[in-house]
Amino acid sequence: MSIASTLADVRARIASAARAAGRDPKDVKLVAVSKTHAPEKIREAHAAGQRTFGESYAQELDDKSKALADLADIEWHFIGHLQSNKAKVVVRSARVIETVHSSELASEIGKRAASASRAPIDVLVEVKLSEEASKHGAAPAELGALLDAIEKDSRLRLRGLMTMPPFGDAVIAKRIFDELRALRDRHGGASRLPELSMGMTGDFEIAIASGATLVRIGTAIFGAR
Ligand SMILES: *Cc1c(COP(=O)(O)O)cnc(C)c1O
Repeated sequence: MSIASTLADVRARIASAARAAGRDPKDVKLVAVSKTHAPEKIREAHAAGQRTFGESYAQELDDKSKALADLADIEWHFIGHLQSNKAKVVVRSARVIETVHSSELASEIGKRAASASRAPIDVLVEVKLSEEASKHGAAPAELGALLDAIEKDSRLRLRGLMTMPPFGDAVIAKRIFDELRALRDRHGGASRLPELSMGMTGDFEIAIASGATLVRIGTAIFGAR
């Protein structure tokens, strides 16, 4: 199947999940996760109208954004675990950094964004709601202080929350998506935190039912990695 047709299929599934939840499909944005896939695949998706792409590795994002610099309207989201020493590379091309997990990282992103003339840069806070050691993010108990620190930093623009449940269990995924939404409501609601980034190939319909505004989908569009 062509990327144009897998994309059309994913968009149709997003729209029907949104309608089933009584939501406007326009309120759910697709982040096409292109990590490990060649720039040519991103070109194909771009030709089919996709503009927002997610990458997980700093160097790969940097390489691809350079290879695709002619596609000036691409909006890159950084969705991987970010170490402070990679913030400088990521702010060069990322429009949104979805994985801020500490105030130290937030302030490093702010500093690097300012010196690259990319401030204010949009950020989401990644929240760790799963016990899995491989999952990163701020603990729910740290969230209040971290959100306050980001809001006080004029080089950053706070946009919302992101999370990633453990792989392959729909019941746990739904519980975690509902927890992220409840945390959003407890910390100022949609006016302060408009974006909820949650849902991947295996669980995006569940995430949309729980209020996702950004779904990060790779495999269903580009195939297996
Ligand atoms: C790889 C990745 C995705 C996409 O996963 P698929 O199952 O391929 O849709 C989404 N979010 C994050 C943070 C990822 O690393």
